[in-house]
Amino acid sequence: MTTSAQDIDRFVDAGELIPLLCSVAELSGDRTLLADEFRPKLDLEMIAIPEFGGLSQEVAEEAFERIRNALKRHFASGRKNGQTDLSAEDLVDFLTDGSDEYADLMRHELGEPEPVTWTKDEVAVGRDFVVGIVGAGQSGLAMARALRRSGIDFVMFEKADKVGGTWRWNAYPGCRLDTSTLAYSYSFFQRRDWRHYFAVREEIEDYYNDFAEHERLLESIRFNSKVVRASWKEDDSRWELAVEDTRSCEVSTVRVQALVSAVGFLNQPKIPDFADLDKCQGEKVHSAEWHSGVEYRGKRVAIIGTGASAYQIAPNIVDEVESLTIFQRSAPWILPAPLYEAEVSQGRQWLMENIPTYHRWLRMWEFWFSTIGKYAVTKADPNWSSTESVSEPNQRFRDALVQNIRRQYVGHEDLLDSVIPSYPVGAKRMLRDNGRWARTLQQPHTVLVTEEIDKFDEEGIRTVSGDHHRAHLTVLATGFDGTNYLGTIDVRGRGGLSLREHWGDESRAHKGVAIPGFPNLFCVQGPNTGLVAIGSQTFMAECAINYITECLRQLLVTGAAAIEPTQDAYRGYVKWIEEGNRGMAWAASAERSWYRNANGTNTVSWPYPLLTYYELTRSVEEDEVVMTYPSTQKTSV
Ligand code: NAP
Repeated sequence: MTTSAQDIDRFVDAGELIPLLCSVAELSGDRTLLADEFRPKLDLEMIAIPEFGGLSQEVAEEAFERIRNALKRHFASGRKNGQTDLSAEDLVDFLTDGSDEYADLMRHELGEPEPVTWTKDEVAVGRDFVVGIVGAGQSGLAMARALRRSGIDFVMFEKADKVGGTWRWNAYPGCRLDTSTLAYSYSFFQRRDWRHYFAVREEIEDYYNDFAEHERLLESIRFNSKVVRASWKEDDSRWELAVEDTRSCEVSTVRVQALVSAVGFLNQPKIPDFADLDKCQGEKVHSAEWHSGVEYRGKRVAIIGTGASAYQIAPNIVDEVESLTIFQRSAPWILPAPLYEAEVSQGRQWLMENIPTYHRWLRMWEFWFSTIGKYAVTKADPNWSSTESVSEPNQRFRDALVQNIRRQYVGHEDLLDSVIPSYPVGAKRMLRDNGRWARTLQQPHTVLVTEEIDKFDEEGIRTVSGDHHRAHLTVLATGFDGTNYLGTIDVRGRGGLSLREHWGDESRAHKGVAIPGFPNLFCVQGPNTGLVAIGSQTFMAECAINYITECLRQLLVTGAAAIEPTQDAYRGYVKWIEEGNRGMAWAASAERSWYRNANGTNTVSWPYPLLTYYELTRSVEEDEVVMTYPSTQKTSV
């Protein structure tokens, strides 16, 4: 695509105003684009990205005009890109109105290269030190990159035959991102040629593959290798791993000095204990175990669940099935996303191709909104008494979403009682869609069942009132055992202590990463790092990885054999997390969710602003860890 004046006039309006101002200022050096009058006006309790960044129509038109003129001048000048004296600081300052609270975090999200301040050669000359990473999905690959940059040897174990983690396993029809593609991608591997605003599964798999190739990680991955046991060996301060070859079932032993779990928390399908499930003659498949042989075309299909997986499967099979029966226990909150299934427009493609940093600023903008906006509307007001909402802004959010639902069900008002959730917005993860869910429920051959399932029989499913629903295929979109962290590996720490027994049903980790008694063991996407309403999991993984790398640095700098959090730091942290969660919609409401264990304790969710996790994971504090030296005496750093 060319950069003629006509193209500029035609395509610039397809852009988001604020990211355009930043990226065109960066490209052209035109500082008038960063005038005070164009600074975004954001409301801390916003429920959607405001049009024109909160600027009035009149000011926005003036800004677009300046952008067009700046681009025309730039392209006509023949000047090379990147020849301006504007710094990231200038732009961040424009965006944040001079407040530097978020400046460092923003630079990180822009993908500004972070200097590697140390290497293994400097801190551990001649030391035999290898880190084992379990899982080659989003977290594992990013961890491997961080270690490679720091000069630390590693080996990765992946039970599948390729990279991609959850995107490798979840192969059901319609599987795609339900959060923005840009915000989901790594800050340090941003891409401008995404085909969808919400990437389809195959695109994400390709992205991870490209990343692994780009970083030359593939040669360090042992595919078809499942770590089944990890035992800490006190004598030589190593983790001994039992690794099963998933094809031959042979088990081999591998020893590493440190171990990183990057297995995620949505890797163990949860199949409820339905009475007589095994008696049902029809095919049954969990959403995460969907395979190309699943036969749904022309069949009577039952889907159990209405969470993130079910609401993607149903609209994508409904036109090809004989009948669709959806069993709903509680209705999901769904955020309107008109571009949910759309391909990226020609205008946006033009902007991505021709304004070198537009994609970075757009990603930052989306991240910025999801960082500050939804936090405020999911915070519970202790003086608010309603079961429908947790605060005044939360009630406003609810009202806006209910209005949207009512618009989608005109002519089908009989469904309204079933599809308007009774619990507060933010008590569970919200979904996004473009109206297809509502259209699916309104199909004449779709039935939404809200009554409890009593049992299965040979022909299908019976609910408690005795109604029977025949099914050739039952899709169990019933989620994952999200609170059972590291549940697929038998982990044994100091003195043979079993992690499973140590945790019981309450998985916890200091900073979501480390556990006393389990030296040199680190988790990415560990306990209480899950996000319900704000930000992106990618951000949380990047933060945890930074902390892990810092822990390893401490270990290598000091010549210690092992590092782990102190009991005090761990206990204090857990208490602080519990207090925080009590103040958020996902805990203040009594609504059931996979973030809570059987006792109702939330071991999954992160309760504070994202900035807090970012800051917590930048460094290792002196009094939070214990180091063990080869002579085995313990000392704080
Ligand atoms: P989920 O959100 O936990 O949903 C499970 C569904 O099954 C819920 O509707 C649940 O009802 C229902 N259910 C569970 N046990 C049941 C029972 N005994 N009887 C009737 N219904 C039952 O699981 P998911 O949809 O697989 O999603 C899990 C997580 O994976 C998401 O929160 C998200 O983090 C991730 N995910 C992401 C994407 C994406 O980005 N595209 C896609 C899929 C999944 P209740 O709500 O009443 O508990």
